[in-house]
Amino acid sequence: MDSSTTAEQLLCGEVVPGKKHWVEAVGIIKLSAGCGDERCLGYPNGIPSVLTWDHRPGQVKLFEVSQAAQGRSRTGRFVQPAKGNEVPKGIKWPDMLAEMAKCDVVCRNCHAVRTVERLTKPGPPAG
Ligand SMILES: [Zn+2]
Repeated sequence: MDSSTTAEQLLCGEVVPGKKHWVEAVGIIKLSAGCGDERCLGYPNGIPSVLTWDHRPGQVKLFEVSQAAQGRSRTGRFVQPAKGNEVPKGIKWPDMLAEMAKCDVVCRNCHAVRTVERLTKPGPPAG
């Protein structure tokens, strides 16, 4: 991948980033999506770290996308559901795409609001 790589190329598999580029690649995808919460009041533009992956209720969370992008791993195996920083070793870009597909991209403020709502309302556990 290079500086002209688009989210579409990454999402369809046309461009498969090497592991050292996963943070950058995930950032491109997050910025392209933007915050998906319709109540969003705004967030700084162009800063991938203000956007987060929010597993939709009912989706089985295998790992944290952002942790995996950074290559963090403690257990070296898949955890269902993931806890803390436990990220499987040996995951490949298609695994990342599959995990991202279970998520909404939302800004940190909206993620916090959603988490509180899920904790205080009946329903599936928060992601
Ligand atoms: Zn938002």
